[in-house]
Amino acid sequence: MTVLETQTYPGGCAGTFYHQGYRFDAGATVAGGFQPYGPHALVGKMLNIDWPVRRHDPAWVVHLPDREVALTQDNADVLAKFPGTESFWEEQAKIADLGWRMSAQGLPWPPTSAADLLQIGRVGLANFPADLRLLPLVFSTVDQWIQRFGLANDKNFRRFLDAQLLISAQTVAQNVNAIWGATALDLARQGVYHVEGGIGGLAQTLVEKIETLGGEVLFRQKVTRIAVESGRVTGVYAQKGKRGKQEELFPADFVIANLTPWSLDDLLGEESPPGLQREVAGRAKGWGAFVLHLGIKADQLPPNLPDHHQIIGDMESNLGETNSIFISLSPQWDNSRAPAGHRAATVTTHTNVQPWWDLLASDEQAYEARKAEYTEKMLTNIEKAIPGFRRGIVLTLPGTPVTYQFYTERHLGMVGGFPITSLFKARGPRTGLPNLRLVGDSIFPGQSTAGVTLGALRVVKDVRRTLPALTAEIYQPTEEVIS
Ligand SMILES: Cc1cc2nc3c(=O)[nH]c(=O)nc-3n(C[C@H](O)[C@H](O)[C@H](O)COP(=O)(O)OP(=O)(O)OC[C@H]3O[C@@H](n4cnc5c(N)ncnc54)[C@H](O)[C@@H]3O)c2cc1C
Repeated sequence: MTVLETQTYPGGCAGTFYHQGYRFDAGATVAGGFQPYGPHALVGKMLNIDWPVRRHDPAWVVHLPDREVALTQDNADVLAKFPGTESFWEEQAKIADLGWRMSAQGLPWPPTSAADLLQIGRVGLANFPADLRLLPLVFSTVDQWIQRFGLANDKNFRRFLDAQLLISAQTVAQNVNAIWGATALDLARQGVYHVEGGIGGLAQTLVEKIETLGGEVLFRQKVTRIAVESGRVTGVYAQKGKRGKQEELFPADFVIANLTPWSLDDLLGEESPPGLQREVAGRAKGWGAFVLHLGIKADQLPPNLPDHHQIIGDMESNLGETNSIFISLSPQWDNSRAPAGHRAATVTTHTNVQPWWDLLASDEQAYEARKAEYTEKMLTNIEKAIPGFRRGIVLTLPGTPVTYQFYTERHLGMVGGFPITSLFKARGPRTGLPNLRLVGDSIFPGQSTAGVTLGALRVVKDVRRTLPALTAEIYQPTEEVIS
Protein backbone atom coordinates (compact mmCIF):
# COMPACT_ATOMS: atom_id res chain seq x y z
CA MET A 1 0.00 0.00 0.00
CA THR A 2 1.26 3.47 -0.88
CA VAL A 3 -0.04 6.74 0.59
CA LEU A 4 0.68 9.92 -1.38
CA GLU A 5 0.56 13.15 0.65
CA THR A 6 1.22 16.54 -0.90
CA GLN A 7 2.38 18.14 2.37
CA THR A 8 5.63 17.51 4.24
CA TYR A 9 3.70 16.30 7.32
CA PRO A 10 0.57 14.16 7.79
CA GLY A 11 -2.88 15.10 9.14
CA GLY A 12 -4.37 17.76 6.84
CA CYS A 13 -7.00 19.70 8.83
CA ALA A 14 -6.02 17.55 11.82
CA GLY A 15 -2.29 18.17 11.35
CA THR A 16 0.22 20.08 13.50
CA PHE A 17 2.78 22.43 11.94
CA TYR A 18 5.93 24.18 13.22
CA HIS A 19 6.21 27.97 13.25
CA GLN A 20 8.70 30.06 15.22
CA GLY A 21 9.14 27.50 17.96
CA TYR A 22 5.42 26.67 18.25
CA ARG A 23 3.62 23.50 17.19
CA PHE A 24 0.23 24.78 16.06
CA ASP A 25 -2.79 22.58 15.39
CA ALA A 26 -3.94 23.47 11.87
CA GLY A 27 -7.68 23.17 12.57
CA ALA A 28 -8.85 20.26 14.73
CA THR A 29 -7.76 20.41 18.36
CA VAL A 30 -10.16 18.16 20.28
CA ALA A 31 -9.76 14.42 19.82
CA GLY A 32 -12.52 11.93 20.61
CA GLY A 33 -13.44 8.34 19.82
CA PHE A 34 -11.21 6.62 22.39
CA GLN A 35 -14.08 5.27 24.53
CA PRO A 36 -14.94 1.55 24.30
CA TYR A 37 -16.52 0.99 20.84
CA GLY A 38 -15.18 4.43 19.80
CA PRO A 39 -13.56 4.48 16.33
CA HIS A 40 -10.04 5.18 17.60
CA ALA A 41 -10.35 2.52 20.29
CA LEU A 42 -11.41 0.01 17.62
CA VAL A 43 -8.55 0.89 15.28
CA GLY A 44 -6.13 0.82 18.22
CA LYS A 45 -7.25 -2.71 19.02
CA MET A 46 -7.11 -3.90 15.40
CA LEU A 47 -3.66 -2.47 14.71
CA ASN A 48 -2.18 -2.73 18.18
CA ILE A 49 -1.78 1.03 18.52
CA ASP A 50 -1.28 2.78 21.83
CA TRP A 51 -2.55 6.28 21.00
CA PRO A 52 -0.47 9.10 22.58
CA VAL A 53 -3.46 10.83 24.18
CA ARG A 54 -4.40 12.31 27.55
CA ARG A 55 -7.91 13.01 28.81
CA HIS A 56 -9.14 16.58 29.29
CA ASP A 57 -12.24 17.12 31.46
CA PRO A 58 -14.11 19.45 31.00
CA ALA A 59 -14.21 18.77 27.28
CA TRP A 60 -14.65 22.51 26.86
CA VAL A 61 -16.42 25.47 28.45
CA VAL A 62 -19.28 27.15 26.57
CA HIS A 63 -19.42 30.91 27.23
CA LEU A 64 -22.92 32.23 26.51
CA PRO A 65 -23.54 35.95 27.09
CA ASP A 66 -25.36 35.21 30.38
CA ARG A 67 -23.63 32.05 31.69
CA GLU A 68 -20.66 29.73 31.43
CA VAL A 69 -21.26 26.01 31.13
CA ALA A 70 -18.51 23.40 31.53
CA LEU A 71 -19.10 20.27 29.46
CA THR A 72 -17.94 17.57 31.82
CA GLN A 73 -18.22 13.82 31.49
CA ASP A 74 -20.83 13.64 34.27
CA ASN A 75 -22.86 16.49 32.69
CA ALA A 76 -23.21 18.04 36.16
CA ASP A 77 -22.64 21.66 35.16
CA VAL A 78 -25.04 21.41 32.19
CA LEU A 79 -27.77 20.10 34.49
CA ALA A 80 -27.03 22.83 37.04
CA LYS A 81 -27.09 25.65 34.46
CA PHE A 82 -30.09 24.28 32.53
CA PRO A 83 -32.45 22.80 35.14
CA GLY A 84 -35.34 20.83 33.67
CA THR A 85 -33.29 19.24 30.90
CA GLU A 86 -32.55 15.94 32.73
CA SER A 87 -34.95 13.75 30.74
CA PHE A 88 -33.69 15.17 27.45
CA TRP A 89 -30.10 14.25 28.35
CA GLU A 90 -31.17 10.78 29.50
CA GLU A 91 -32.73 10.12 26.10
CA GLN A 92 -29.76 11.69 24.31
CA ALA A 93 -27.38 9.32 26.12
CA LYS A 94 -29.58 6.32 25.31
CA ILE A 95 -29.67 7.14 21.57
CA ALA A 96 -25.97 7.93 21.44
CA ASP A 97 -25.14 4.59 23.09
CA LEU A 98 -27.20 2.78 20.45
CA GLY A 99 -25.48 4.81 17.72
CA TRP A 100 -21.99 3.96 18.96
CA ARG A 101 -22.89 0.27 19.31
CA MET A 102 -24.32 0.16 15.80
CA SER A 103 -21.51 2.10 14.18
CA ALA A 104 -18.92 -0.15 15.87
CA GLN A 105 -20.35 -2.92 13.68
CA GLY A 106 -19.18 -1.00 10.58
CA LEU A 107 -22.64 -0.66 9.06
CA PRO A 108 -22.67 0.08 5.31
CA TRP A 109 -24.34 3.50 5.53
CA PRO A 110 -25.83 4.81 3.33
CA PRO A 111 -26.96 1.44 1.97
CA THR A 112 -26.19 0.83 -1.70
CA SER A 113 -27.52 -2.71 -2.16
CA ALA A 114 -30.12 -5.14 -0.87
CA ALA A 115 -27.34 -6.91 1.06
CA ASP A 116 -26.46 -3.62 2.80
CA LEU A 117 -30.11 -3.07 3.73
CA LEU A 118 -30.37 -6.58 5.12
CA GLN A 119 -27.28 -6.07 7.26
CA ILE A 120 -28.55 -2.75 8.61
CA GLY A 121 -31.98 -4.26 9.29
CA ARG A 122 -30.49 -7.17 11.21
CA VAL A 123 -28.25 -5.02 13.40
CA GLY A 124 -30.96 -2.37 13.80
CA LEU A 125 -33.48 -4.93 15.01
CA ALA A 126 -30.97 -6.34 17.46
CA ASN A 127 -30.45 -2.87 18.97
CA PHE A 128 -33.67 -0.94 18.53
CA PRO A 129 -36.23 -3.01 20.45
CA ALA A 130 -34.62 -1.08 23.30
CA ASP A 131 -37.25 1.61 22.76
CA LEU A 132 -39.55 1.81 19.76
CA ARG A 133 -40.58 5.37 20.75
CA LEU A 134 -37.20 6.46 19.41
CA LEU A 135 -37.97 5.33 15.86
CA PRO A 136 -39.78 8.54 14.74
CA LEU A 137 -36.59 10.43 15.58
CA VAL A 138 -34.99 8.83 12.53
CA PHE A 139 -37.08 11.33 10.54
CA SER A 140 -36.98 14.30 12.98
CA THR A 141 -34.71 17.26 13.50
CA VAL A 142 -33.15 18.11 16.87
CA ASP A 143 -35.61 21.01 17.06
CA GLN A 144 -38.57 18.64 16.75
CA TRP A 145 -36.98 16.28 19.23
CA ILE A 146 -36.54 18.90 21.98
CA GLN A 147 -40.21 19.89 21.58
CA ARG A 148 -41.06 16.53 23.19
CA PHE A 149 -39.41 17.88 26.36
CA GLY A 150 -40.96 21.34 26.18
CA LEU A 151 -37.54 22.88 25.55
CA ALA A 152 -38.02 24.37 22.08
CA ASN A 153 -38.83 27.84 23.45
CA ASP A 154 -35.93 27.98 25.85
CA LYS A 155 -33.80 30.44 23.89
CA ASN A 156 -30.67 29.94 25.95
CA PHE A 157 -30.83 26.16 25.79
CA ARG A 158 -31.42 26.29 22.03
CA ARG A 159 -28.39 28.54 21.59
CA PHE A 160 -26.33 26.21 23.76
CA LEU A 161 -27.30 23.22 21.58
CA ASP A 162 -26.88 25.17 18.33
CA ALA A 163 -23.36 26.17 19.28
CA GLN A 164 -22.33 22.57 19.91
CA LEU A 165 -24.13 21.20 16.87
CA LEU A 166 -22.50 23.76 14.60
CA ILE A 167 -19.05 22.44 15.44
CA SER A 168 -19.93 18.76 15.56
CA ALA A 169 -22.65 18.49 12.86
CA GLN A 170 -21.95 21.63 10.76
CA THR A 171 -25.45 23.06 11.18
CA VAL A 172 -27.94 23.98 13.89
CA ALA A 173 -30.82 22.23 15.72
CA GLN A 174 -33.39 23.31 13.16
CA ASN A 175 -31.61 21.22 10.48
CA VAL A 176 -29.66 18.43 12.18
CA ASN A 177 -31.22 14.97 12.16
CA ALA A 178 -32.18 14.05 15.74
CA ILE A 179 -30.49 10.63 15.84
CA TRP A 180 -27.34 12.15 14.46
CA GLY A 181 -27.63 15.11 16.81
CA ALA A 182 -27.73 12.79 19.82
CA THR A 183 -24.30 11.45 18.85
CA ALA A 184 -22.99 14.90 17.96
CA LEU A 185 -23.96 16.11 21.46
CA ASP A 186 -22.19 13.17 23.09
CA LEU A 187 -18.56 14.27 22.86
CA ALA A 188 -18.07 15.33 26.47
CA ARG A 189 -19.72 12.19 27.84
CA GLN A 190 -17.50 9.98 25.68
CA GLY A 191 -14.37 11.87 26.63
CA VAL A 192 -12.18 14.44 24.94
CA TYR A 193 -8.43 14.07 24.65
CA HIS A 194 -5.27 16.03 23.92
CA VAL A 195 -2.75 14.37 21.64
CA GLU A 196 0.86 14.61 22.82
CA GLY A 197 2.79 16.97 20.53
CA GLY A 198 -0.47 18.20 18.94
CA ILE A 199 -3.40 16.62 17.08
CA GLY A 200 -1.09 15.66 14.19
CA GLY A 201 0.20 12.90 16.49
CA LEU A 202 -2.82 10.80 15.47
CA ALA A 203 -1.87 10.84 11.78
CA GLN A 204 1.85 10.44 12.65
CA THR A 205 1.01 7.33 14.67
CA LEU A 206 -0.83 5.92 11.65
CA VAL A 207 2.10 6.73 9.33
CA GLU A 208 4.45 4.78 11.60
CA LYS A 209 2.03 1.85 11.71
CA ILE A 210 1.64 1.79 7.91
CA GLU A 211 5.43 1.71 7.54
CA THR A 212 5.81 -1.02 10.17
CA LEU A 213 3.27 -3.10 8.27
CA GLY A 214 5.27 -2.76 5.03
CA GLY A 215 3.37 0.10 3.40
CA GLU A 216 4.90 3.43 2.43
CA VAL A 217 3.88 7.04 2.95
CA LEU A 218 5.40 9.41 0.40
CA PHE A 219 5.34 13.12 1.31
CA ARG A 220 5.53 16.04 -1.15
CA GLN A 221 3.68 13.91 -3.72
CA LYS A 222 0.75 15.83 -5.13
CA VAL A 223 -1.72 13.71 -7.08
CA THR A 224 -2.50 15.62 -10.26
CA ARG A 225 -4.79 13.20 -12.08
CA ILE A 226 -6.36 9.81 -11.77
CA ALA A 227 -5.76 7.49 -14.72
CA VAL A 228 -8.84 5.66 -16.03
CA GLU A 229 -8.98 3.05 -18.79
CA SER A 230 -12.08 1.20 -19.95
CA GLY A 231 -14.10 2.44 -16.97
CA ARG A 232 -11.55 1.42 -14.31
CA VAL A 233 -8.88 3.32 -12.47
CA THR A 234 -5.39 2.12 -13.42
CA GLY A 235 -3.34 4.40 -11.16
CA VAL A 236 -2.64 8.00 -10.24
CA TYR A 237 -0.18 10.57 -11.52
CA ALA A 238 1.68 12.62 -8.93
CA GLN A 239 4.25 15.39 -9.03
CA LYS A 240 6.97 15.89 -6.45
CA GLY A 241 6.49 19.14 -4.53
CA LYS A 242 3.85 21.80 -5.12
CA ARG A 243 5.63 23.13 -8.19
CA GLY A 244 7.12 19.88 -9.50
CA LYS A 245 7.05 19.63 -13.28
CA GLN A 246 7.36 15.92 -13.90
CA GLU A 247 4.48 13.58 -13.28
CA GLU A 248 5.10 10.03 -12.16
CA LEU A 249 2.53 7.26 -12.61
CA PHE A 250 1.74 5.11 -9.58
CA PRO A 251 -0.12 2.07 -10.96
CA ALA A 252 -2.86 0.75 -8.69
CA ASP A 253 -5.55 -1.91 -8.57
CA PHE A 254 -7.61 0.17 -6.19
CA VAL A 255 -7.47 3.87 -5.30
CA ILE A 256 -8.89 5.42 -2.14
CA ALA A 257 -9.10 9.19 -2.55
CA ASN A 258 -8.97 11.28 0.62
CA LEU A 259 -10.63 14.23 -1.11
CA THR A 260 -13.78 16.28 -1.39
CA PRO A 261 -16.08 15.28 -4.29
CA TRP A 262 -15.08 18.50 -6.11
CA SER A 263 -11.37 17.63 -5.99
CA LEU A 264 -12.11 14.06 -7.05
CA ASP A 265 -14.04 15.36 -10.04
CA ASP A 266 -11.09 17.65 -10.93
CA LEU A 267 -8.57 14.81 -10.75
CA LEU A 268 -10.74 12.57 -12.95
CA GLY A 269 -11.23 15.29 -15.57
CA GLU A 270 -13.16 13.98 -18.56
CA GLU A 271 -13.33 10.53 -17.00
CA SER A 272 -15.46 11.79 -14.11
CA PRO A 273 -18.63 9.65 -14.01
CA PRO A 274 -21.86 11.56 -14.82
CA GLY A 275 -23.21 11.04 -11.28
CA LEU A 276 -20.14 12.68 -9.74
CA GLN A 277 -20.31 15.54 -12.24
CA ARG A 278 -23.96 16.13 -11.33
CA GLU A 279 -23.13 15.98 -7.63
CA VAL A 280 -20.41 18.64 -7.76
CA ALA A 281 -22.48 20.89 -10.01
CA GLY A 282 -25.48 20.75 -7.66
CA ARG A 283 -24.01 20.51 -4.18
CA ALA A 284 -24.43 23.52 -1.89
CA LYS A 285 -21.13 24.92 -0.65
CA GLY A 286 -20.06 23.88 2.84
CA TRP A 287 -18.48 25.92 5.61
CA GLY A 288 -14.96 27.23 5.66
CA ALA A 289 -12.95 28.39 8.67
CA PHE A 290 -11.18 31.57 9.67
CA VAL A 291 -8.33 30.74 12.02
CA LEU A 292 -5.92 32.53 14.33
CA HIS A 293 -2.79 30.76 15.45
CA LEU A 294 -1.57 32.60 18.53
CA GLY A 295 1.53 32.42 20.68
CA ILE A 296 0.69 33.45 24.26
CA LYS A 297 2.64 34.14 27.44
CA ALA A 298 1.45 31.46 29.86
CA ASP A 299 1.68 33.68 32.95
CA GLN A 300 -0.86 36.13 31.52
CA LEU A 301 -3.64 33.52 31.46
CA PRO A 302 -6.01 33.08 34.42
CA PRO A 303 -4.90 30.24 36.74
CA ASN A 304 -6.50 26.80 36.18
CA LEU A 305 -8.02 27.92 32.90
CA PRO A 306 -9.43 24.87 31.02
CA ASP A 307 -7.74 24.32 27.62
CA HIS A 308 -10.81 24.53 25.33
CA HIS A 309 -13.52 27.21 25.16
CA GLN A 310 -16.43 28.02 22.91
CA ILE A 311 -17.46 31.64 23.00
CA ILE A 312 -20.80 32.95 21.74
CA GLY A 313 -20.72 36.70 21.08
CA ASP A 314 -24.42 37.58 21.17
CA MET A 315 -27.78 35.80 21.23
CA GLU A 316 -29.31 37.41 18.15
CA SER A 317 -26.85 37.15 15.25
CA ASN A 318 -26.27 33.92 13.38
CA LEU A 319 -23.50 31.72 14.68
CA GLY A 320 -20.18 31.70 12.81
CA GLU A 321 -18.44 34.74 11.24
CA THR A 322 -16.78 35.59 14.60
CA ASN A 323 -20.03 35.32 16.61
CA SER A 324 -19.11 31.76 17.65
CA ILE A 325 -15.47 30.98 18.32
CA PHE A 326 -13.64 27.88 19.40
CA ILE A 327 -10.36 28.40 21.20
CA SER A 328 -7.89 25.71 22.21
CA LEU A 329 -4.68 26.15 24.18
CA SER A 330 -1.82 23.67 24.09
CA PRO A 331 -1.84 21.84 27.43
CA GLN A 332 0.43 23.13 30.14
CA TRP A 333 2.06 19.70 30.47
CA ASP A 334 3.12 19.60 26.79
CA ASN A 335 6.47 21.43 26.58
CA SER A 336 6.89 20.43 22.93
CA ARG A 337 4.15 22.79 21.75
CA ALA A 338 5.61 26.23 22.56
CA PRO A 339 8.78 28.00 23.70
CA ALA A 340 9.31 27.92 27.50
CA GLY A 341 6.70 30.01 29.33
CA HIS A 342 4.34 30.14 26.34
CA ARG A 343 1.30 28.29 25.02
CA ALA A 344 0.15 27.70 21.42
CA ALA A 345 -3.49 28.55 20.69
CA THR A 346 -5.72 27.73 17.72
CA VAL A 347 -8.82 29.92 17.48
CA THR A 348 -11.42 29.29 14.78
CA THR A 349 -14.81 30.48 13.57
CA HIS A 350 -17.09 29.13 10.84
CA THR A 351 -17.15 31.33 7.74
CA ASN A 352 -18.63 31.30 4.25
CA VAL A 353 -15.86 30.61 1.78
CA GLN A 354 -17.02 32.55 -1.27
CA PRO A 355 -16.68 36.16 0.02
CA TRP A 356 -12.99 35.53 0.81
CA TRP A 357 -12.29 34.36 -2.73
CA ASP A 358 -14.33 37.17 -4.24
CA LEU A 359 -12.42 39.79 -2.24
CA LEU A 360 -9.06 38.22 -3.06
CA ALA A 361 -9.91 38.33 -6.76
CA SER A 362 -11.33 41.86 -6.77
CA ASP A 363 -9.51 43.83 -4.08
CA GLU A 364 -6.57 42.36 -2.22
CA GLN A 365 -6.49 45.28 0.23
CA ALA A 366 -10.11 44.66 1.18
CA TYR A 367 -9.25 40.97 1.66
CA GLU A 368 -6.46 41.94 4.08
CA ALA A 369 -8.78 44.44 5.81
CA ARG A 370 -11.39 41.71 6.33
CA LYS A 371 -8.72 39.48 7.86
CA ALA A 372 -7.79 42.27 10.25
CA GLU A 373 -11.47 42.91 11.08
CA TYR A 374 -12.12 39.21 11.86
CA THR A 375 -8.95 39.06 13.97
CA GLU A 376 -10.03 42.10 15.98
CA LYS A 377 -13.59 40.85 16.53
CA MET A 378 -12.40 37.43 17.64
CA LEU A 379 -9.85 38.82 20.06
CA THR A 380 -12.48 41.19 21.49
CA ASN A 381 -14.89 38.31 22.06
CA ILE A 382 -12.19 36.18 23.68
CA GLU A 383 -11.14 39.03 25.97
CA LYS A 384 -14.73 39.37 27.22
CA ALA A 385 -14.84 35.66 28.15
CA ILE A 386 -11.23 35.29 29.30
CA PRO A 387 -10.08 38.64 30.74
CA GLY A 388 -6.37 39.32 30.31
CA PHE A 389 -6.01 36.97 27.34
CA ARG A 390 -5.12 39.69 24.84
CA ARG A 391 -2.18 41.15 26.69
CA GLY A 392 -0.47 37.74 26.65
CA ILE A 393 -0.39 37.46 22.86
CA VAL A 394 3.09 37.59 21.34
CA LEU A 395 2.41 36.08 17.92
CA THR A 396 -0.64 36.24 15.63
CA LEU A 397 -1.00 34.22 12.46
CA PRO A 398 -4.40 34.52 10.73
CA GLY A 399 -5.70 32.16 8.04
CA THR A 400 -8.76 32.16 5.76
CA PRO A 401 -10.38 29.56 3.49
CA VAL A 402 -7.70 30.58 0.97
CA THR A 403 -5.07 29.40 3.46
CA TYR A 404 -6.90 26.11 4.05
CA GLN A 405 -7.14 25.52 0.32
CA PHE A 406 -3.39 26.11 -0.07
CA TYR A 407 -2.39 23.74 2.73
CA THR A 408 -4.98 20.98 2.34
CA GLU A 409 -5.95 21.23 -1.36
CA ARG A 410 -9.61 21.28 -0.29
CA HIS A 411 -11.88 22.90 -2.88
CA LEU A 412 -12.30 26.64 -2.01
CA GLY A 413 -10.97 25.79 1.45
CA MET A 414 -14.26 24.16 2.48
CA VAL A 415 -13.69 22.15 5.64
CA GLY A 416 -15.63 19.95 8.02
CA GLY A 417 -17.66 17.90 5.53
CA PHE A 418 -21.40 18.14 4.95
CA PRO A 419 -24.13 18.76 7.52
CA ILE A 420 -26.10 15.61 8.34
CA THR A 421 -29.66 16.81 7.92
CA SER A 422 -31.12 13.46 6.92
CA LEU A 423 -29.78 9.98 7.51
CA PHE A 424 -31.06 9.07 4.07
CA LYS A 425 -29.20 11.76 2.16
CA ALA A 426 -25.79 10.91 3.59
CA ARG A 427 -22.97 10.58 1.06
CA GLY A 428 -21.28 7.21 0.88
CA PRO A 429 -17.79 6.32 -0.38
CA ARG A 430 -18.88 5.15 -3.89
CA THR A 431 -17.67 7.22 -6.84
CA GLY A 432 -19.20 5.63 -9.93
CA LEU A 433 -15.97 3.79 -10.76
CA PRO A 434 -15.70 0.22 -9.44
CA ASN A 435 -12.16 0.44 -8.02
CA LEU A 436 -12.24 3.99 -6.66
CA ARG A 437 -13.63 5.11 -3.30
CA LEU A 438 -13.77 8.35 -1.37
CA VAL A 439 -12.68 8.52 2.25
CA GLY A 440 -12.52 11.42 4.71
CA ASP A 441 -15.06 13.84 6.07
CA SER A 442 -17.10 14.10 2.84
CA ILE A 443 -18.47 10.60 3.40
CA PHE A 444 -20.81 9.43 6.16
CA PRO A 445 -20.45 9.90 9.12
CA GLY A 446 -18.51 13.01 8.13
CA GLN A 447 -16.35 15.42 10.04
CA SER A 448 -13.96 15.00 12.98
CA THR A 449 -11.01 12.67 13.32
CA ALA A 450 -13.33 10.10 14.95
CA GLY A 451 -15.90 10.48 12.13
CA VAL A 452 -13.23 10.12 9.46
CA THR A 453 -11.81 7.03 11.18
CA LEU A 454 -15.26 5.46 11.37
CA GLY A 455 -15.89 6.19 7.69
CA ALA A 456 -12.48 4.70 6.84
CA LEU A 457 -13.28 1.48 8.71
CA ARG A 458 -16.28 1.02 6.44
CA VAL A 459 -14.25 1.77 3.32
CA VAL A 460 -11.69 -0.86 4.35
CA LYS A 461 -14.46 -3.46 4.68
CA ASP A 462 -15.83 -2.46 1.30
CA VAL A 463 -12.42 -2.64 -0.41
CA ARG A 464 -11.70 -6.04 1.11
CA ARG A 465 -15.00 -7.29 -0.20
CA THR A 466 -14.66 -5.73 -3.67
CA LEU A 467 -10.96 -5.95 -4.52
CA PRO A 468 -10.54 -9.75 -4.82
CA ALA A 469 -13.50 -10.04 -7.20
CA LEU A 470 -12.35 -7.08 -9.28
CA THR A 471 -8.75 -8.22 -9.58
CA ALA A 472 -9.75 -11.80 -10.33
CA GLU A 473 -11.72 -10.40 -13.26
CA ILE A 474 -8.86 -8.55 -14.87
CA TYR A 475 -5.35 -9.09 -13.59
CA GLN A 476 -3.23 -10.01 -10.62
CA PRO A 477 -3.00 -7.34 -7.88
CA THR A 478 -0.06 -4.98 -8.02
CA GLU A 479 -0.68 -2.31 -5.44
CA GLU A 480 -3.28 -0.10 -3.78
CA VAL A 481 -2.72 3.62 -3.67
CA ILE A 482 -4.29 6.05 -1.23
CA SER A 483 -4.02 9.79 -1.69
C1 LIG B 1 -10.93 24.81 11.90
C2 LIG B 1 -11.26 23.37 12.11
C3 LIG B 1 -11.50 22.89 13.39
C4 LIG B 1 -11.79 21.54 13.58
N1 LIG B 1 -11.93 21.06 14.86
C5 LIG B 1 -12.01 19.74 15.05
C6 LIG B 1 -11.86 19.19 16.34
O1 LIG B 1 -11.63 19.91 17.32
N2 LIG B 1 -11.96 17.85 16.48
C7 LIG B 1 -12.12 17.02 15.41
O2 LIG B 1 -12.15 15.79 15.59
N3 LIG B 1 -12.25 17.51 14.15
C8 LIG B 1 -12.18 18.85 13.96
N4 LIG B 1 -12.22 19.35 12.70
C9 LIG B 1 -12.55 18.47 11.58
C10 LIG B 1 -11.41 17.55 11.19
O3 LIG B 1 -10.20 18.25 11.20
C11 LIG B 1 -11.67 17.03 9.80
O4 LIG B 1 -12.99 16.57 9.68
C12 LIG B 1 -10.73 15.91 9.43
O5 LIG B 1 -9.42 16.20 9.84
C13 LIG B 1 -10.79 15.76 7.93
O6 LIG B 1 -9.92 14.76 7.53
P1 LIG B 1 -9.85 14.33 6.00
O7 LIG B 1 -8.86 13.24 5.95
O8 LIG B 1 -11.21 14.08 5.49
O9 LIG B 1 -9.39 15.60 5.18
P2 LIG B 1 -8.12 16.54 5.29
O10 LIG B 1 -7.82 16.84 6.70
O11 LIG B 1 -8.40 17.66 4.36
O12 LIG B 1 -6.93 15.65 4.75
C14 LIG B 1 -6.73 15.42 3.38
C15 LIG B 1 -5.25 15.14 3.17
O13 LIG B 1 -5.04 14.82 1.80
C16 LIG B 1 -3.99 15.62 1.28
N5 LIG B 1 -4.28 15.87 -0.14
C17 LIG B 1 -5.34 16.54 -0.65
N6 LIG B 1 -5.28 16.56 -1.99
C18 LIG B 1 -4.17 15.88 -2.33
C19 LIG B 1 -3.56 15.55 -3.57
N7 LIG B 1 -4.09 15.93 -4.74
N8 LIG B 1 -2.41 14.84 -3.55
C20 LIG B 1 -1.85 14.43 -2.39
N9 LIG B 1 -2.37 14.72 -1.18
C21 LIG B 1 -3.52 15.43 -1.16
C22 LIG B 1 -4.00 16.89 2.11
O14 LIG B 1 -2.74 17.54 2.09
C23 LIG B 1 -4.39 16.36 3.49
O15 LIG B 1 -3.27 15.94 4.24
C24 LIG B 1 -11.90 20.67 12.48
C25 LIG B 1 -11.66 21.16 11.18
C26 LIG B 1 -11.31 22.47 10.99
C27 LIG B 1 -10.98 22.95 9.63
